[in-house]
Amino acid sequence: MFQTNLLCAVNRCGKQVTILSDGPKTTHTITCVEHGVLISFLDQFSFREYVRRAANRLLELSGEELINFDAFAMTSDVKAPPESMN
Ligand SMILES: [Zn+2]
Repeated sequence: MFQTNLLCAVNRCGKQVTILSDGPKTTHTITCVEHGVLISFLDQFSFREYVRRAANRLLELSGEELINFDAFAMTSDVKAPPESMN
């Protein structure tokens, strides 16, 4: 279990969410103290893809920024296969 700077967007809640998982290859469940389980992912890769896409969407809109980009720093602590960056 570890924390990120991802924030709950339910009703503009804005509370920091908690990610529950037993490791990169296990289910990642995102919970909010106010709203309980928000969403869960098959594994860390699915979670990271979701965050990346959500962040990109926010960048395009450049309006509401509920996802803090420090979320990406969190993933750098975890051993993961290198991704091609273009
Ligand atoms: Zn919430």
